[in-house]
Amino acid sequence: MKDAPEEAAKDAAADAKRCPICGKLAVAEFRAFCSRRCADVDLNRWLSGVYAVPGKPEDDEDGEGAPARDDEA
Ligand SMILES: [Zn+2]
Repeated sequence: MKDAPEEAAKDAAADAKRCPICGKLAVAEFRAFCSRRCADVDLNRWLSGVYAVPGKPEDDEDGEGAPARDDEA
């Protein structure tokens, strides 16, 4: 009863999330990243890939928060 062969499956890595940037174990403090640095890298990707879209104002407020209409009944 020492180390089972199944332990080779890296159960620790399977349970813990890995940093998508460098592949290290992620820290809860940085969510899915291992450090603020990697979190920043991912954030930059977002900023340049999503928020950098020109001519796209935020009109999401129309979707949610819409009050129910009691007039139409
Ligand atoms: Zn990282």
